[in-house]
Amino acid sequence: MTKIDSSVPAPVLIIGGGPVGFAVALDLARRGQRSVLVEREAGTALELLAKAGTLNERTMEIARSWGIADRIANCGFPSDYPRDNVFCTAINGFFMGRDPLHSADDRPVPPYAAEKLRKCPQHLFDPLIAQAAMETGLVDVRYSTTYNRLEQDAEGVTVWLEGPSGEYALRAAYVVACDGGASQVRQDLGISWEGVKLDNSLSLMLRIPELWNYHPWGKAERFLCIGPQGTYANLTMVDGTDIYRLTLVGSQERLDVDMIDIRAQVQKALGPDVPFEVLRIVPWWRAQMLAGQYRVGRVLLCGDSAHTTSPTGGHGLNTGIGDAQDIGWILDAVLSGWGGETLLDAYGAERRPVAYRNTSGSTKNYRAWIDQSRDKVCEDSPEGAAQRKAVFEGMSASLTQEWHSHGVGLGYRYEGSPVIVPDGTPEPADDPTLYVQTARPGHRAPHAWIRNGFSTLDLFGRGFVLLRFRGGPDGSALARAAAERHVPLTVETIDDPVIAALYEQPLVLVRPDGMVAWRGAALPEDPGKLIDTVRGA
Ligand SMILES: Cc1cc2nc3c(=O)[nH]c(=O)nc-3n(C[C@H](O)[C@H](O)[C@H](O)COP(=O)(O)OP(=O)(O)OC[C@H]3O[C@@H](n4cnc5c(N)ncnc54)[C@H](O)[C@@H]3O)c2cc1C
Repeated sequence: MTKIDSSVPAPVLIIGGGPVGFAVALDLARRGQRSVLVEREAGTALELLAKAGTLNERTMEIARSWGIADRIANCGFPSDYPRDNVFCTAINGFFMGRDPLHSADDRPVPPYAAEKLRKCPQHLFDPLIAQAAMETGLVDVRYSTTYNRLEQDAEGVTVWLEGPSGEYALRAAYVVACDGGASQVRQDLGISWEGVKLDNSLSLMLRIPELWNYHPWGKAERFLCIGPQGTYANLTMVDGTDIYRLTLVGSQERLDVDMIDIRAQVQKALGPDVPFEVLRIVPWWRAQMLAGQYRVGRVLLCGDSAHTTSPTGGHGLNTGIGDAQDIGWILDAVLSGWGGETLLDAYGAERRPVAYRNTSGSTKNYRAWIDQSRDKVCEDSPEGAAQRKAVFEGMSASLTQEWHSHGVGLGYRYEGSPVIVPDGTPEPADDPTLYVQTARPGHRAPHAWIRNGFSTLDLFGRGFVLLRFRGGPDGSALARAAAERHVPLTVETIDDPVIAALYEQPLVLVRPDGMVAWRGAALPEDPGKLIDTVRGA
């Protein structure tokens, strides 16, 4: 018989304890909100994950606001390991070219970001973020617990869960579905799931000790193996030591692991002399998919349950972390009583277009990988050499936006959000590679160092912040209007003329997630109306 666990009614129930589920729990906990998180597996990262390895600058800024940026930087991935991409026909084959990319040690923090990109493979990142969430003491983590079904009414959601001692039901005010690309919650809500299926891929997790001793090209993050039919394999360094992921790319048929000669496939890429051990075999569907909506009533989708992408670009997890940060402050606002219903609508209005933008760019990268077939690329002849040069130059140019994606990571914007007040300035270009900071409403508030090691971004993260640049008008009427509505808001005065120029207006209102909500030369006549708009009243 189903028990109702009403002893611990949860403000938020998070379904799925992947990295995004724990990110939601951590963001909520940093805001003082309790959550229950259920995960069907018996623990976190119990297997060697064949997934994300790169946390972009924006994810690292969010991690900084959660207090875990240093832990990620010291996760165990060697900071002197280069991020170079080598193009070749095989590890024992022809060299085509190299796109050099710095190691963490050699990579400066960009002038427009508070953090640098970090390598942190998911088998290290997932336990790290789970631990950080659990340390807050505000997350009730229930492993070996599977979501079965849910029903919602005006006051909350009843969720039936299958735990180690049987089925029980839990009441929650809100549910965040972080149950991955095959999301049962999304299906139960009847939300459409549309996009493009790209290929069947197979990732082989390999241990290859000292691979760099078997070829003359030194250490690299990725070896793209290209044959007459185009890119057939991608060998990516996972842990900076001896674990690699070899992804066999581009089959339209479902790859049947039992029918494939795994050893032959690995040796096609590595050659016959490189010793290796197969640690894990993971077949997966490469697809650009997007949920038709991000919310039904009190249930919201987040992370891969809302969008999946080709990993070409490394934006899947990074996009999910952005979702988690947006959902965190919105649910906190609503649960605290000062946020209105429109905030819940704003979540999808803001994050869905970002997911479409990021996943479409990744599909474009993927096409650049596979559209490079040349019949003589493996021939030891002048024509072969000419084709190898052409393939490298073409791919290198097309993949610039894959290797250098500051614009994707930092330049997303919440155009048309119902809780952002436009200032009438035109939307700047959305370039995947180039990022130009702007304090235009709907964009990430610009970073600048206020003093050594202290960024403008370090002012944000809890309530709203009204930035007032020296000489700017008094902002106290806005603070009063916020206080009357129980909206947390502080006024910060900044003297620095360089930072003032970056923000362009003397008054800039920044949200708890570090996004600009409004800016102006003076407060509007009715400051209460402005507060009501940005709190979704
Ligand atoms: C080869 C590859 C390389 C990638 N590289 C990158 C990269 O470099 N950068 C990047 O940003 N992204 C990358 N990604 C994408 C990234 O791995 C995903 O976007 C990320 O794991 C999504 O996290 P999530 O928490 O949303 O979902 P998941 O990681 O899928 O987690 C979902 C969780 O929900 C649990 N669950 C599911 N159903 C239930 C249920 N009914 N009840 C309870 N629990 C349930 C699952 O057990 C799982 O733990 C890559 C992906 C692949 C495949």
